[in-house]
Amino acid sequence: MAKIIDGKEVARGFREGIAEETKRVRARYGRPPGLAVVLVGDDPASAVYVRNKERAAKEVGFHSEVHRLPADTTQQALLQLLDQLNRAEEIDGYLVQLPLPPQIDPQAVVRAIDPEKDVDGLTPVQAGRLLLGVQGLRPCTPQGVMELLRSAGVEPDGKEAVVVGRSAIVGKPMAHLLLGAGATVTIAHSHTRNLPDVTRRADILVVAAGRAGLIGSEHVKPGAAVIDVGTNRGEDGKLKGDVRFSEVEPVAGFITPVPGGVGPMTIALLLRNCLEAMKWRSSASLKSPVS
Ligand code: NAD
Repeated sequence: MAKIIDGKEVARGFREGIAEETKRVRARYGRPPGLAVVLVGDDPASAVYVRNKERAAKEVGFHSEVHRLPADTTQQALLQLLDQLNRAEEIDGYLVQLPLPPQIDPQAVVRAIDPEKDVDGLTPVQAGRLLLGVQGLRPCTPQGVMELLRSAGVEPDGKEAVVVGRSAIVGKPMAHLLLGAGATVTIAHSHTRNLPDVTRRADILVVAAGRAGLIGSEHVKPGAAVIDVGTNRGEDGKLKGDVRFSEVEPVAGFITPVPGGVGPMTIALLLRNCLEAMKWRSSASLKSPVS
C-alpha cells in the first residue's frame, strides 16, 4: 500500500513558515509583502481560486488586493491595470487568473507583466531563467510538486521521472524542475503512443493531463511515487484526479489524493514566490530572486 502524501498538512506547515518569515521581512523593510490577483469575468471556479488566494495571503500577513473586472473588460483596460500594478510600490507580485474572456489575448497579457512581479512564473524572462537553470520565479504548481516529493523523502536525483502533460504552466516547468534536480525526464502528452509503456518506466510519475482517471495500475511501476496534478469536476460536482486512486494506491510507493494533494501546495508556493519577489525588489544588491 502506498504512503499517502497529505498536501493539506504539508501546505499548512509551509504557510506557517511563510507567516514567520513575513514578520521578519516586515520588521526589516517596514512593510509586508504585497500580492495582487486580477480576476476578469465571473467564471465560478476562478472566483473560488481567487478567494482562496486572497484568504491565504491575508492569513500569513501579506497586503492583499483583488481586482475584479467585468467579463466585457477590454484588453486595453486590463493592460492599463497591469501597468498600474507594475508601478505600484506596495505590490511585489501579481497574477492574472486564467482563463480570460475571448476578447483578451492571454499572450498580450503575459507580455505586459513585469517579470520581476511575475509570481506565476509565466513571462518569457522567468520561463527562460528556468530553462537556463538560474534563479527565478518558478510556476507554483510544479514547485509544489517538488516540495511534496521532498516532504515524502523522495529524492529525484538519478531517478526516472515521467511527466504526463506539456502545458506552459504545469507540464513543461515540471519537467525542467525534475531535470534540474537530477532526474532523467520523459515528457508524455496527447500524441504519445503506448502511454502505459512510457509511464511504467517512472520512479516518479507526475500526471497533469486534465483527464479524469487517465492513469490506472497498468501505468504504474510498483513502488513509484505518483503525483496527481489533475483536477476534473465530475458530473456529481466532485473533484477527480487524473489517477484512479483506489486502483493505483496498492501498487505505488507514494501517492497524492485529489483533493488534498497538489492543490493546497499551489497557493503556498504562490505566497513563497511573492515573498521572494519582495526580497529581490527590496534588496538593491540582489538582482535575481532567491529561491
Ligand atoms: P492543459 O489542458 O493545458 O494541458 C494538458 C496536457 O495534457 C497537454 O499537454 C496534453 O498534451 C496532455 N494530455 C491530454 N490528454 C492526454 C492523454 N490522453 N494522454 C497523455 N497526455 C494527455 O492543462 P494544464 O493547465 O496543464 O492542467 C492539467 C491539469 O492540472 C488540469 O486538470 C488542471 O485543472 C490541473 N491543474 C491543477 C492545479 C492545482 O493546483 N492542483 C494547478 C494547475 C492545473
